[in-house]
Amino acid sequence: MFEDKLIDRITGITIVILSIIFYVLGYLTKIVALLNDVLSNVIELEVARYTTSILIAIPASLILLVVSIHAEEKWKKYLLAVFDCVLLIIILKAFNDVDFSKLTTISNYIDFSKRLFIPVLLSTMFFFLIEVFKKLKEEKTAASKQNIATIKQSVSESEQKLSELQATFNEIQSIIKEHKKLTCSDCQMTFHNQNALNAHKCKGKNEESNLVFLMDKAGELTMVSE
Ligand SMILES: [Zn+2]
Repeated sequence: MFEDKLIDRITGITIVILSIIFYVLGYLTKIVALLNDVLSNVIELEVARYTTSILIAIPASLILLVVSIHAEEKWKKYLLAVFDCVLLIIILKAFNDVDFSKLTTISNYIDFSKRLFIPVLLSTMFFFLIEVFKKLKEEKTAASKQNIATIKQSVSESEQKLSELQATFNEIQSIIKEHKKLTCSDCQMTFHNQNALNAHKCKGKNEESNLVFLMDKAGELTMVSE
C-alpha cells in the first residue's frame, strides 16, 4: 500500500505540474539571458535592459506553456520544441569555437554532438512532459465525470423512493378519510358501508380505536383497528 501511494505521488499530476512550472521558469530565464545579450548593444542602461528582457520573456514563456498544452495542431507543438532546442543551442553556445573543417574523425563528431545533446534532450523531455500532463488531465476529467454520473444516479434513485413514500402517505391519508366517514362520532365504531352506519343505533361512548397500517411485500396497505 505504501509503495502504491509513493508511486502515485511520484508519478501523479502534481509532480508533472511542478516539473512543467520549473521548466517554464527555466525557459523564462533562458529568454531573459538571450534578450539581455542581444539587447546589450541597443539598450545601454542595465536596469532598462533587464526590465525589457523580463517583460518580453514572461509572455513568451506563458505562450510556450499555453500553446504546448492547448494547441490542437501537432505542428505547433513540434515547432515550439524546435525553437526551444535552438534557444538552448544559442544560450549554451553549442556551435561556438567549432571548426567544421576539423570534424574529420568519429571522435570529433562525438565531441561536437555532446554540445547538442543537452538542448535536444531538454526540449524533447518538455515535449513528453506536456503529453503526460494531457493524458493525466484527461484521466482526471473522465474520473470526475464518472463521479458526477454516480451522484446523479443516486439522486434519481432517492427521488424515486421519495415519490413512492409520497404515494404511500397519500394512500394512508385517503384510507383515514374513508375510515372517519364510516365511523360513528359518538361510540367510535366503524362500519363497512354507509347504510350500516346509518342503521346503527348508538349505545353511547366507546373507547377510541387506533388505526394500524400494515404493508405487505408487494407494497399493498391494509388497515386494522386496535
Ligand atoms: Zn355509535
